[in-house]
Amino acid sequence: MSRTLIAYTKNKADENVELFGWVHGRRDHGKIIFIDLRDKSGIVQLVFTPQDKELYKTAETLRSEWVLKVSGKVAKRPSAMVNKEIETGDIEVQPESIEVLSEAATPPFALDTDGREIGEENRMKYRYLDLRRERLSKNMALRHRVTKFIRDFFDREGFLEIETPIMTKSTPEGARDYVVPSRLYSGKFYALPQSPQQYKQLLMVAGIEKYFQIARSFRDEDTRGDRQPEFTQMDMEMSFVEREDVMAVNEALLIELIKNVMPNKKIQEIPFPRLTYKEAMEKYKTDRPDLREHPDDPDLLAFCWVIDFPFFEKEKEGAAHFEALAKKWTFTHNPFSAPKPEHMEWLMQKKNIGEILTTQYDIILNGFEIGGGSIRNHKAEALKKVFEILGLDEERITKNFGHMLEAFSYGAPTHGGIAWGLDRLVAILANEPNIREVIAFPKTGDARDLMMNSPSELEEKQLKELHLQIKK
Ligand code: ASP
Repeated sequence: MSRTLIAYTKNKADENVELFGWVHGRRDHGKIIFIDLRDKSGIVQLVFTPQDKELYKTAETLRSEWVLKVSGKVAKRPSAMVNKEIETGDIEVQPESIEVLSEAATPPFALDTDGREIGEENRMKYRYLDLRRERLSKNMALRHRVTKFIRDFFDREGFLEIETPIMTKSTPEGARDYVVPSRLYSGKFYALPQSPQQYKQLLMVAGIEKYFQIARSFRDEDTRGDRQPEFTQMDMEMSFVEREDVMAVNEALLIELIKNVMPNKKIQEIPFPRLTYKEAMEKYKTDRPDLREHPDDPDLLAFCWVIDFPFFEKEKEGAAHFEALAKKWTFTHNPFSAPKPEHMEWLMQKKNIGEILTTQYDIILNGFEIGGGSIRNHKAEALKKVFEILGLDEERITKNFGHMLEAFSYGAPTHGGIAWGLDRLVAILANEPNIREVIAFPKTGDARDLMMNSPSELEEKQLKELHLQIKK
């Protein structure tokens, strides 16, 4: 016999089935023992009566989270015994044989609740148990369906998913890099990508034209709020497009995604409303307004675009993207962005700097910025002007961005793209307040992995190989 998933037992009354799963719970009612057996598809009730002495004796030993193989017969329940709470509530299984595949230690917390009552430290330390709970396993399934839909959509639209390196070089996205010491090159370091920004632009120079990637990104930021040291972006880039084209593809994808993956959700307004940065700040005092008419409605999604951001702003003291350089202008979003076409002249002449608007577009959902992107400067001269305004001298520009400028000298197409924060999007769709609830193995709020016990120290030998000395 082959395995039946528990959810399918409901259509198999009077048939014999073979089930695999975990003991979810156990109730003793007089002489009858009820065991709830759980697999990834659902829960079914097993019934043991004292008549079958051998089986009954085994049933008496079963405890929560033991792993079983059960063969038995599916029986319709008498109507008074139907349990409307579970999918398989019309039936139960009368076991004919049981094999204990694994016994289990008593779990450190309950797994049959939504887990909100349990301290996060404990949940993270035993994440492999925490993930057994229904809420989390549903979140994992939702995340899979969202990612799968995105991949299929882009595939249909002629995009290629291309992996870009994790070991790379510092990029100026505005955050601190995580770095990897090189063993072969003493004193040198790789950096983990804050985003695939430069690689995806180089893929456009390479003639790929339509790229996307479900990409891991890393930012060593102070752990405030709901941030993760590593997070996932839906990253995309296209050639021969203008702002409207990129916004249109992304808007279509979001609408299709919601329709197909979360049909119970309602998008408040289509096409998505658009606000300029100025309008948003004047009207809502924020550049990520929550436009929901009924903020308490859990299934309402209010998307909007915010456009026409200033390209540059005066640096706040101590927040320099390029430290040690005159604290003057910094970029508001992305140094690789192009200005709005009507402001290109100003950029090239480095005048009216504070008034130059960027082609940046941010996509906002229920008050969260879930993505942002722009049309890029595909001409080396224009990109160089940005770096000059940011206060970089010739030497620094060549050292940090020489490869981009050189690449653009070999015939760069016009191009633009966007990246979404996939964790945040899934969290909003799952009505989860925190992105940790939709990441299988997240770090804690203070950037630790309590299950693996990371970050951790290295052996003296490893440090030596890496040419590192720890300052005590
Ligand atoms: N690389 C940008 C980011 O991570 C997104 C983009 O402009 O495509 O925010």
